[in-house]
Amino acid sequence: MKDEENMIRLVLLGGPGSGKGTQADILKKELEMVKLSTGDLLRREIQEDSGLGIEAKSYMDRGELVPDSVMIGILEKITADFEKEQQSYILDGFPRTIPQAEALLKMMEKQGVALTMALLIDVPEEELVRRLSSRWTCMSCSATVGYPEGKPDNAVCPQCGGELYQRDDDKRETILNRMSVYKKNTEPLIAYFEKKGLLEKVAGTGGPVAVSERIKTLFKEKGIV
Ligand code: AMP
Repeated sequence: MKDEENMIRLVLLGGPGSGKGTQADILKKELEMVKLSTGDLLRREIQEDSGLGIEAKSYMDRGELVPDSVMIGILEKITADFEKEQQSYILDGFPRTIPQAEALLKMMEKQGVALTMALLIDVPEEELVRRLSSRWTCMSCSATVGYPEGKPDNAVCPQCGGELYQRDDDKRETILNRMSVYKKNTEPLIAYFEKKGLLEKVAGTGGPVAVSERIKTLFKEKGIV
């Protein structure tokens, strides 16, 4: 919990597989923030077989986006809770469309607060496809691990020892669709936030530690930490 003027409200942008989730996990620990991953939230709903989960699954399995109206409703409620608790937060996977970004900024205006930064983790497309095709996810903690040479039979989550699985939407055909959905719907957010003076970029190549060091340097330069 922080004083209102010290609160950080961060949007992470980047293609599927750019490392948003991993970087959000690192920031969350180091800066006492909470992470809201809309993908993780929807996957939990699917596991619980809830109404939202059943609706979301049909879109997610095809690599399509869940409708804006559904996502905006969820975000409105959760960000209101963060403000009530004066909790700094990271959005991983939201916004994914211009209408979602507009709704988010409007929501913040209504709450009388401002977005600190939209941070783009920049990774070339060929690298994204390569990472996603070799990505395995932990059933328990959602951490991801890359196995470019194939997953060893006895591999478990390096973070918590949990069982690893390959997300349905990390299969090759769906990956290609997710990439084209990203380019069409989400990439325009880069120019959108840039125009508003809210965009910052870091190179997302190299390992998670290298990327996290770049983010920390940027945050220091901007006086965020
Ligand atoms: P992710 O874990 O962020 O890669 O998200 C997995 C899938 O969840 C996406 O391919 C979408 O189908 C869905 N999803 C997650 N966040 C959003 C969002 N903000 N808007 C629409 N669909 C989303």
